Amino acid sequence: MFKTSSFTKMINSEQHVTIKNNNGKHMKVTDHIKNANGKTLFSFEIIPPKKGNSIQQLYNNIDPLMEFNPPFIDVTTSREEYLYIEKEGLLDRKITRMRPGTVGICAAISHKYNVDTVPHVLCGGFTKEETEYLLVDCHYLGIHNVMALRGDAMKHEQYFKACDGGHKFAKELVGQIQNLNKGQYLHDVIEVDGKSDFCIGVAGYPEKHLEAPSLKTDLKRLKEKVDAGADYVVTQMFFDNKKYFEFVDAAKAEGITVPIIPGIKPLAVKRHLQLLPQVFKIDLPEDLIDAVDGCKTNQDVRKVGVEWAIQQSKELQEAGVPVLHYYSMGKSDNVKAIASELF
Ligand SMILES: Cc1cc2nc3c(=O)[nH]c(=O)nc-3n(C[C@H](O)[C@H](O)[C@H](O)COP(=O)(O)OP(=O)(O)OC[C@H]3O[C@@H](n4cnc5c(N)ncnc54)[C@H](O)[C@@H]3O)c2cc1C
Repeated sequence: MFKTSSFTKMINSEQHVTIKNNNGKHMKVTDHIKNANGKTLFSFEIIPPKKGNSIQQLYNNIDPLMEFNPPFIDVTTSREEYLYIEKEGLLDRKITRMRPGTVGICAAISHKYNVDTVPHVLCGGFTKEETEYLLVDCHYLGIHNVMALRGDAMKHEQYFKACDGGHKFAKELVGQIQNLNKGQYLHDVIEVDGKSDFCIGVAGYPEKHLEAPSLKTDLKRLKEKVDAGADYVVTQMFFDNKKYFEFVDAAKAEGITVPIIPGIKPLAVKRHLQLLPQVFKIDLPEDLIDAVDGCKTNQDVRKVGVEWAIQQSKELQEAGVPVLHYYSMGKSDNVKAIASELF
């Protein structure tokens, strides 16, 4: 149609509660890729429910995707935001995280589905000390993969600002996680008995990060993250596979040899035509724009989005990408429709 280029709790020798996956042990994302022997794997990303909402809604969206055997599921972390609460005629400003619970959700999903999970860890809004606590939680829970991200600027800020005692760039966060893997905690006064062994993912941008002055500079920054210890890259969404293939070639030329996992988002509503380029500074192919423009309802747009993502995914799978990683954005019907055609 388109032209598109048992939850098993056990106390191990280190006295840690471990959650086991299907093979009886946790695995790193990179080991899942190695074990697949060139077969493309299926994975997806979910967003924690809004504070106060039930986790059941999340399960309802994960359930239909489990038949495609995702070896790992990513769980995002959201930045804190300001809430304005009216109090005696005045607006009281409170800072809060509307979608907390990333690590808890990871543990719950591992428990329920026997799958590995990847919590997203942010620089923004977290001190290095808080990050250390979070990583210690992950280590105790047997979560061996983390995605290290800077996070975006807060909604009212034009530019990203690190909090006092926080990291400025994802590369520094990768460095902290790698230090922990070497048994180096923030304060050297503790005795270390049992090191963590996190597999670290980082973000890559086939159409460059919106703040980067050029793709070449952004690739150098990506190489710095890999040199700091990142084990794999997951890309920002793209709608033209050519952008991904060129990015992978340019990354290789830059000396980046870790797996680069394509991130795919099925377009779902007409408004995405404006929203996605505005928020992520990405281009949409003319054929896709025309097809969406021709839709009468958002239900029709959803079908176009699925069809486009199927074509994209098939070409990527044929090219031998390690994993097809889908941004499910809370609803799984479209990802299920895509996965049914491929896995
Ligand atoms: C797969 C994926 C998952 C994501 N998940 C989340 C999530 O769960 N929660 C969330 O809030 N956001 C998430 N994001 C969005 C991400 O946080 C933003 O894109 C953010 O703006 C950049 O994060 P980063 O880790 O790429 O930052 P960095 O790698 O730190 O790069 C940020 C910018 O700084 C530049 N830069 C890097 N190092 C230097 C340096 N030394 N000097 C000057 N400039 C430098 C880079 O070129 C880039 O422009 C995700 C993005 C992707 C692709």
